[in-house]
Amino acid sequence: MEQLEEFLAKIRERASAYIGYPASMDFDYTELYPLLRYNLNNVGDPFVESHFAMHTKSFEREVVQFFAELFHAPQKDWWGYVTAGGSESNLYGLYLAREMFPHGMVYYSEATHYSVQKNLHLLGMQSIVIRTTKSGEMDCDDFRETIQSHRHQPVIIMANIGTTMTEAKDDVVLIKDMLKKYAIKHYYIHCDAALAGPYLALLDKGHFDFRYGADSIAVSGHKFIGAPNPCGVVLVKKSNRDRISHAVSYIGSMDTTITGSRNAVTPVFIWYALKKLGREGLLRKAMESMELAAYAVDQLNRIGIRAWKNEWALTVVFPQASEEIRYKWQLASDGDWSHLICMPGVTRAQIDLFVADMKQEANAGRVGSLDRVYLS
Ligand SMILES: *Cc1c(COP(=O)(O)O)cnc(C)c1O
Repeated sequence: MEQLEEFLAKIRERASAYIGYPASMDFDYTELYPLLRYNLNNVGDPFVESHFAMHTKSFEREVVQFFAELFHAPQKDWWGYVTAGGSESNLYGLYLAREMFPHGMVYYSEATHYSVQKNLHLLGMQSIVIRTTKSGEMDCDDFRETIQSHRHQPVIIMANIGTTMTEAKDDVVLIKDMLKKYAIKHYYIHCDAALAGPYLALLDKGHFDFRYGADSIAVSGHKFIGAPNPCGVVLVKKSNRDRISHAVSYIGSMDTTITGSRNAVTPVFIWYALKKLGREGLLRKAMESMELAAYAVDQLNRIGIRAWKNEWALTVVFPQASEEIRYKWQLASDGDWSHLICMPGVTRAQIDLFVADMKQEANAGRVGSLDRVYLS
């Protein structure tokens, strides 16, 4: 089919300059293609068996277990499932928080992913936006002042573990200390680790997992791990989840997930990547990506472009590039900034080509103004 071939040719070409969005293309799932011959469906709870056999829940459970261990979830008190992506994972965390504290106030920073506001609206939750510092981290002074004036309400924190634009990390340990200091007894901490969760945990950086106070964690599967279809994982405490399942068993179901029918192939993609690479393989990828991001900052600085990145980030931020470069390299931009993300699969050769393009622009005097630039 001609139309399809044209499309594939175009995608092949565009994939060679895909450095602006956080989606690894460093995978080969050819061995799993036979799965596509069947109509598979992981409808319902991954931990509940039924007569329905056309599912991949045994793989899904292994994926959830891998992340439960990686994030140090409390022994025998964890539960989760493979979602349609980080957004659904965040929605689930907030849903649990709301069931626990229907009158809670949600606090999230202005650098939070755009989907969160919509989710809060869907859930009808009250919320307050907290300022960020220049690097994109939640401003703790603003947070302190804000919770002080709402002390009577349970606190629900939506912590960013790698923001979309600058990959900044909110300080979960500090947030927890503050809750303690102000004697706030009822609180829930959800960590949006969609982007950075897997590699930060592998590197043991970021201090956001269950040991540090997370009640639930969201990750995307198609980002660092990489998958041909969007997917994600949500990890929660089983004891918290049981409250929902009670509410639902009332209507006679173990409908513990958000949607009914669920993708049964994506869990196998993630499972396959985890099995093939193991923790060591994934850690190696994380280190390589980290090195490449540092290299990109270096190379851009060298030609006079004031690029920077947050600590343990794969996201490199720099003054907004021209429309031409942003189109070619598929760069996301926000305000004065553009970024590139050194996900696995991005190569040094690509960075060199990109830097050469930027250099040409700089020589032509077309790089965004430098005086507004923040250097970390
Ligand atoms: C990507 C991302 C999301 C949304 O995840 P999807 O998998 O695209 O649904 C949410 N939060 C952050 C910080 C992200 O990077």
